[in-house]
Amino acid sequence: MIDFHTHILPLEIINNLEKYTEKDTTLKSLFQKPNSKFSTAEFLCEKMNEHQINQSVVLGMGWSDSGLNSFVNDYILDSAKNSLGKLIPFTGINPTDVKSGINEAIRCIESGSKGFGEIHCDFQNFNITDKNIMAPYMEILEDYKLPIVIHASEPVGHMYPGKGLTTPNKLVKTIEDFPNNNFVLSHWGGGLFFYELMPEISRSLKKVYYDCSASPFLYDNKIYEVALKILDSTKILFGSDFPLIDPSRITDDIEKLSIDQKALDDIYWKNAFNILNLSNE
Ligand SMILES: [Zn+2]
Repeated sequence: MIDFHTHILPLEIINNLEKYTEKDTTLKSLFQKPNSKFSTAEFLCEKMNEHQINQSVVLGMGWSDSGLNSFVNDYILDSAKNSLGKLIPFTGINPTDVKSGINEAIRCIESGSKGFGEIHCDFQNFNITDKNIMAPYMEILEDYKLPIVIHASEPVGHMYPGKGLTTPNKLVKTIEDFPNNNFVLSHWGGGLFFYELMPEISRSLKKVYYDCSASPFLYDNKIYEVALKILDSTKILFGSDFPLIDPSRITDDIEKLSIDQKALDDIYWKNAFNILNLSNE
């Protein structure tokens, strides 16, 4: 089983949160509550053992400060190297930092990063629909056949820290700008999958995958069955958003439903295997 959506932070940041929130607006916005949840790589691995999760994709969070971005990227890459294959590293990019942003992205890919993300452009203060801003990063990913994970926002509903404005209309524009890239849209793409009922949108979104991270905070449990009516099971990824939510809350929800074994295999590991080219390793 592969959890495609988890976040880890170095103990140095967790223990000195105030110092680091002064540097980075993403960190400040996401962890303003006193009871915020954090996880180190070690704690994540313990949780994975508890829930029989074999591998987890560890993502950045869309840092706005390039120094913090590099610091966490190093932690993600090192943790993955020390994890005996349990952790799959995805590193953050900061396109606002024009020149050194690209150098950092290349550095991470050359150090073993398996993709970029989670992109959080509202915090990071760039326009994801600006093709020129995204192009250098998408070219790197295309060359290495690696995906991008983008935090997606529902255009309606309750507000929550980090919700943002990366709504389905903006996502479609970006995806259409880069038809050769694989996209993983977090949190069901902010509902974008519904529009795959429109034939032209479905054609544009051929290389798009949706993760179900944080589902219980956003949607009724029926979302899985609804999504499986609209989408092929090859487009849905199991992801939790740990430590925000325990992976078992997602798997408990999925297992309550009558989803056939083929779809479960796709969602729990096969799609992740394909996106990450794991079968070739
Ligand atoms: Zn997210």
